[in-house]
Amino acid sequence: MMSRDFTLEILKELLHELKRKEYKIIPFKDYLNNKNEKIIILRHDVDKLPLRSLMFAEIEKTLDIIGTYYFRIVKESFNTDILKKIVSMGHEIGYHYEDLALANGNYEKAFELYKKHLTEFEKISKVKTICMHGSPLSKWDNRKLWEKYSYKDSGIVAEPYFDLDKEKVFYITDTGRRWDGSKVSIRDKVNSSFSNVYKSTRDIIESIKENTFPEQVMFTFHPQRWSDGIIDWSSEMIKQKSKNIIKKVIVKRIK
Ligand SMILES: [Zn+2]
Repeated sequence: MMSRDFTLEILKELLHELKRKEYKIIPFKDYLNNKNEKIIILRHDVDKLPLRSLMFAEIEKTLDIIGTYYFRIVKESFNTDILKKIVSMGHEIGYHYEDLALANGNYEKAFELYKKHLTEFEKISKVKTICMHGSPLSKWDNRKLWEKYSYKDSGIVAEPYFDLDKEKVFYITDTGRRWDGSKVSIRDKVNSSFSNVYKSTRDIIESIKENTFPEQVMFTFHPQRWSDGIIDWSSEMIKQKSKNIIKKVIVKRIK
């Protein structure tokens, strides 16, 4: 039987170990000012179930850690009360945009939507960074909006897919409820110079302990995939498994 991973218990252990090894843990908005430090950029993509993200934010807060939470504009993610609470803890919030998919590939309409949606966030807090949502089942790649427009015009300083130095910063994500999921991820891929592979959160913790973990890392969490309840955990695992099968089929098709 597979041992349980992606629980809030192991998350705490991971964050604690990063702190113990004196990584500077920062939200993405601070990356450009800390490019030469030993850093962990703590990123969370709130695809859905924002309450889980609030739980992450609270855990981090108790450890004196702040990170970035990218919320989508759709109702399964954008929850004003939760956004406000996360901001009040000192975390950064940013827009997890998907406007090109929402506008069905119409660039002008997508950019109008993008600006309108950004305003919704700025009612709560000034936004400095944004990050695309992968829209895995849509044919539109949301990043392509920036072939025609510039996010820097709207006061945004950075977008991870464009502004992260992939040669220096190791990128790791729990996409598909695994840490070695590049095979099943369609768009959440970053070309980089690293070949490190971690199968489980336990492997990552061991690597940090042994000082073999990279010096600069962007961690991307999807809090909705993490839980403490056994029932929750197994149903999420079943859902992810079937989603991964669908994604594998799509990956094969677009290769
Ligand atoms: Zn997403």
